Amino acid sequence: MPNRILVTGASVAGATTASRLARHGFDVEVVEKSACFLDGGQNVEVRGAGRKVLRAMGLEARALERTTGERGTDWVNA
Ligand SMILES: Cc1cc2nc3c(=O)[nH]c(=O)nc-3n(C[C@H](O)[C@H](O)[C@H](O)COP(=O)(O)OP(=O)(O)OC[C@H]3O[C@@H](n4cnc5c(N)ncnc54)[C@H](O)[C@@H]3O)c2cc1C
Repeated sequence: MPNRILVTGASVAGATTASRLARHGFDVEVVEKSACFLDGGQNVEVRGAGRKVLRAMGLEARALERTTGERGTDWVNA
């Protein structure tokens, strides 16, 4: 069975897919159209399925080390 796989896009879905496939012995190549790493943006809330995947990949503790400490929104009065 051929085991070469091309993954298009190196964001969260592509990188996660490529990582999991490589761990299972597939020969994975990732292509990304963006010329550089896009490090701008805002806080990302990781929960639900995303948190489960992070845990399964053994990356939850490393992600928590990088938390910004943002607590969310507090309503202080009406
Ligand atoms: C403002 C904003 C805030 C968000 N906040 C949250 C949040 O707090 N928590 C959360 O869980 N989600 C959040 N999301 C959603 C989250 O960003 C997306 O669900 C997630 O990025 C989707 O990941 P993806 O890998 O599927 O796609 P994308 O992140 O869109 O990545 C697709 C990648 O494929 C590349 N690509 C596309 N076409 C090609 C091609 N033809 N050839 C090569 N490369 C290609 C793109 O350049 C890109 O790098 C937010 C989204 C936005 C817009």
